[in-house]
Amino acid sequence: MRAARHGGTLGARIDLNPGADMRDTQLFQLALGINSPWFVAASDFDGEKKRLDIEIDFKTGARFACPDCKAADCPVHDTTKKTWRHLDFFQHQAFLHARTPRITCTRCGVRQVEVPWARPGSGFTLLFEALAMTLVIHMPVAAAARMLGEHDTKLWRVVHHYVEAALAEIDLAALARVCIDETAARRGHNYITLFVDIDARRVVFIAEGRGQQTVAQFADWVDAHNSDASRIKEVCIDMSGAYIAGVAENLTEAEITFDRFHVMKLIGEAVDKVRRAETRSRPELKGSRYLWLKNDANLTAAQKAERGSLAKANLKTGRAWAMRLAFQDIYKEPSREWAGLMFDRWCSWARRSRLEPMKSVAATLMRHEQGILAWFDSRIANGLIEGINSLVQAAKAKARGYRTLRNLKAITYLVAGKLDLKLPT
Ligand SMILES: [Zn+2]
Repeated sequence: MRAARHGGTLGARIDLNPGADMRDTQLFQLALGINSPWFVAASDFDGEKKRLDIEIDFKTGARFACPDCKAADCPVHDTTKKTWRHLDFFQHQAFLHARTPRITCTRCGVRQVEVPWARPGSGFTLLFEALAMTLVIHMPVAAAARMLGEHDTKLWRVVHHYVEAALAEIDLAALARVCIDETAARRGHNYITLFVDIDARRVVFIAEGRGQQTVAQFADWVDAHNSDASRIKEVCIDMSGAYIAGVAENLTEAEITFDRFHVMKLIGEAVDKVRRAETRSRPELKGSRYLWLKNDANLTAAQKAERGSLAKANLKTGRAWAMRLAFQDIYKEPSREWAGLMFDRWCSWARRSRLEPMKSVAATLMRHEQGILAWFDSRIANGLIEGINSLVQAAKAKARGYRTLRNLKAITYLVAGKLDLKLPT
């Protein structure tokens, strides 16, 4: 460490320690955790260029194990010079350099030996990659790349490696209850479907698209990860025909619960259709959409007062709104039986309402009655879906400029998958 010696701090401290005869190369060797036959041959610190270069080598005549058959003591065939970016040394970028050997194995022929400080093919040391992964869990990849002074495509390569390695090891043996939901990947054009373990509260699979085939892909994924699709007993989905058919075909043991959030959203949309049609004859309804869709807790006192006076005005919208409130109350019933009774009553009320959107939503709900009432047994909460969706939105922000669905999927797994990344420490 020629340049640093001029400053003298490191050298001076070592000299003060009686009996110590440790050279800076040995110090780096300890710090890097490098073992025989590898050793630190030299180091060069350039204060002006703000970089530290550490030269690593192996002992003359060293023999290495074959990476394929593990046969020991294979002689070196030839070497190639390689460089890896390592953790910064204070504010200075640090690089390791080494000639990496290819050995001759009597059984396998000429093989490239892996070095203990880096993955094959990576231009970063394992510790640098661990730092990069820690950063991208907490900040957008582009920001992490800027901070590390690397191009983000290089960081994405690291992200994909660790996410894919963790996914290959994912164990789904305990998976029994699953939420399935779609989310827009980019400006509503692409969709991904998330499969969420309700009990572990984590994303266990992400499929591209939102069709029936996404459930088939999920079933294959479960089969391939220490489980069996028949172990899935509960599924929470919206009333999309694609998911219903996908579950019926691929998750044959699962009982479907239709998500409360989606059920109420459908009814809310019907209320708004009634309002929009009525606005033509009752202009006071203009701009009141929000008042009929939100619960009291989410309205200001003024909004509540406005809706109160509109609700007394004998409007069709007021009737539809009362139906929405009544349906919401069904979820407060103490049992599936009571809820079933109220559900039937509600549907006949809606069907006789002479409000086309309410009649139509009642027909939809009746076709899905079992799955709606299944909530009273499964109690699968809608909050989880919203929570997961907000994680996906956060992932989208982290993957800003993610360019590909593959990048968005990787970050989603990273922030919502509770993966065991097995990062080197
Ligand atoms: Zn071999």
